[in-house]
Amino acid sequence: MKKTIKDVDLKGKKVIVRCDFNVPMQDGAISDDTRIKAALPTIRYLLEQNAAVILMSHMGRPKGEPKMEFTLKPVADRLSEYLNLDVKFVTSPVVVDDAVREAAAALAPGEVMLLENVRFRPEETKNGAEFAKELASLAEVFVQDAFGTAHRAHSSTAGVADYLPALSGFLIEKEVKFLGSAVEDPKRPFVAIMGGAKVGDKIPVIENLITKVDTLIIGGGMAYTFYKAMGLEIGTSILDADNVGLAGDLMKKAEDAGVKMLLPVDCVVAKEFDNNSESAIVDRDQIPADMMGMDIGPKTVELFRQTLADAATVVWNGPMGVFEMDNFAKGTKAVAEALADCDAITIIGGGDSAAAVEKFGLADKMTHISTGGGASLEFLEGKVLPGIAVIEDK
Ligand code: ADP
Ligand code: MG
Repeated sequence: MKKTIKDVDLKGKKVIVRCDFNVPMQDGAISDDTRIKAALPTIRYLLEQNAAVILMSHMGRPKGEPKMEFTLKPVADRLSEYLNLDVKFVTSPVVVDDAVREAAAALAPGEVMLLENVRFRPEETKNGAEFAKELASLAEVFVQDAFGTAHRAHSSTAGVADYLPALSGFLIEKEVKFLGSAVEDPKRPFVAIMGGAKVGDKIPVIENLITKVDTLIIGGGMAYTFYKAMGLEIGTSILDADNVGLAGDLMKKAEDAGVKMLLPVDCVVAKEFDNNSESAIVDRDQIPADMMGMDIGPKTVELFRQTLADAATVVWNGPMGVFEMDNFAKGTKAVAEALADCDAITIIGGGDSAAAVEKFGLADKMTHISTGGGASLEFLEGKVLPGIAVIEDK
């Protein structure tokens, strides 16, 4: 267990918090402030503890240069509105300079300041020790609350903990709780659903989960690489040709481990990768040579639904079809509904899966939707995330 901000007395302490304020911008304005809102509980708690709160984050890819289109000033303004106080913002091309040091030193308990985009510094993404030391020098305690970048060892996510005691904020605590217990100590039956487009990206996750789950469900575009490994005709469906052999190995591995692996038994095929394309529902051994698999079929939905109804833990990564096109979204929607209806702990990892659940209005029916695409995948691969490893153990 990792120490959290609740485990330490932070009264009057100067605390530096790594947040994920990597919000999308359009014409100089924030177009989606979900990540800012998500950071508020940790910040509010620290203020209630009467800490002096210094926030830091990256935004976009300024590539180690002070490019002002990536300034965090708009984030400071939005935070000021939500927190109903003046979030001090001292811009600096080098993030930490004398003016910033003075402002940090003068920051009183109950006050908040935000530093400039940490990626203005080229050392940030190389985990430069000097920059980490500069950041650490501003505070007495480091709080990690940026899950989306926790899989990167950067100065502001990992290096800073070389010089300060490190605690997890509420966002990190929640991610570790749900993803961690799902992978290490799941309530059974434990079902993983894997989908999406490329097998290659997900193989490490499947390899890690295959010995841990009771049932592995494969859907989406990656199913066709498994079909190929089974010797089926897949027409013009998406194929990860380099990984056909590995797909076959994974099926063998599942069999050896006594893990049930469910592949779609039917699919929705189309002539073209287009919502309005001519389409048909076919069994998996009937895919026409000139058509491509776009979604799982109704028999498959029923099969998956039965398995999900009895599950106690479900981890879902990757949509069941091309859900962005309404005519090929039914399978993904049905699986999302099955998760929403079941009593299991349901965990969604992966950007597109989370977007799908949002699109169908089912987000609040899930136990946990991970906020970090890449980070949640690495977590499910069983990797140690550098930004989490640095947090002190209880
Ligand atoms: P996540 O972000 O949840 O990890 P991925 O990025 O791996 O998911 O995959 C999502 C993408 O996979 C979606 O854009 C979706 O359209 C695509 N996809 C799903 N099924 C198919 C299919 N049968 N053919 C082509 N693309 C597919
Ligand atoms: Mg994706």
